[in-house]
Amino acid sequence: MKRREFIKKAAVGVAASSTFGPVFAQTQKRIRWRMATSWPKSLDTIYGGALTVAERVRAMTDGKFDIRVYAGGEIVPGLKVVDAVQQGTVEAGHTAAYYYIGKHPAFAFATAVPFGFTYREQNAWLYDGNGGKLLGELFDQFNMVGFPAGNTGVQMGGWYRKPINSVEDLKGLKMRIPGLGGKVMARLGVTVQVLAGGDIFPALERGAIDATEWVGPYDDEKLGFYKVAKYYYYPGWWEPGPTLHFFVNKDAWNRLPKEYKEVIKTAAAQANLQMQVDYDYKNPQALKRLLKRGVKLRKFPLDVMKAAEKEAFALYDEIAAKDKFYRKVYEDWKAFRADINRWFATAELAMGQYLFAKL
Ligand code: CA
Repeated sequence: MKRREFIKKAAVGVAASSTFGPVFAQTQKRIRWRMATSWPKSLDTIYGGALTVAERVRAMTDGKFDIRVYAGGEIVPGLKVVDAVQQGTVEAGHTAAYYYIGKHPAFAFATAVPFGFTYREQNAWLYDGNGGKLLGELFDQFNMVGFPAGNTGVQMGGWYRKPINSVEDLKGLKMRIPGLGGKVMARLGVTVQVLAGGDIFPALERGAIDATEWVGPYDDEKLGFYKVAKYYYYPGWWEPGPTLHFFVNKDAWNRLPKEYKEVIKTAAAQANLQMQVDYDYKNPQALKRLLKRGVKLRKFPLDVMKAAEKEAFALYDEIAAKDKFYRKVYEDWKAFRADINRWFATAELAMGQYLFAKL
């Protein structure tokens, strides 16, 4: 092509795109997806994470990529989201990976394990550390790709009818606590029960259970536990910074245009930030309201924390001895944990102790 002709054609190209709007918007494919979630709509912070992903995707594609969000049980049972994504019944899901430790124990590391990572530590391991890559291998085995898309921050340690003054007080206690936290509690003598959200209050009220954990002040207040169990313990050492995931069926992912893949990554990252922001905004007010209603706030005794941590790591070692892939993830996680906790024990801890301990 002669130079003059080339310039002329290039100029026409520029003119065309500025006259008829961005080329990107015109060439975008229309896509409709369904996203199953594990959440009732009433839990607006956690369900909000799924909504954020869908809203940002819609906004960034001028409505061309439309993901419809469904509450738990609407099209898929709340604890079967990964199954549905894996099989392609839905293209996407928003859930907690640790609900699926029955499929593979390493799913726990994607969300939270007792005495594991806080929100920021979890993100450092998932985004920049080896966490994302290692768990990506796991998700791939289940025909999915996954993105962090929300976090609750450190959870509370739950509601108890009587104070917990030592490890002895845990023996024989009937408590609703799922997952690995429940397995550790069981090793400390607790009779563990797993109940869905809506069944907890009635069980606590009629004395079928003595204690329960849920999330934190804002979500716990809605379920009304303070009416029947006055002692509210912290911290929820089994969930220091649980990550929620946005999972996509691998075949659906592979069919997406490249720019839509980028849109999803950005939307999930936004949800990962926004959910934590929502909890940090709403929990302080909810805690104030709970304290006005006579809730007794208590810190877990040190001997309970130490005994639980010891049992937690004994449990991880047992699982690692049986499963090679789990061991690979666990060893990376453990090394990362040692380094990052040492770093957080310096400036972060000193600042936090000074700022918060005065209150
Ligand atoms: Ca919890």
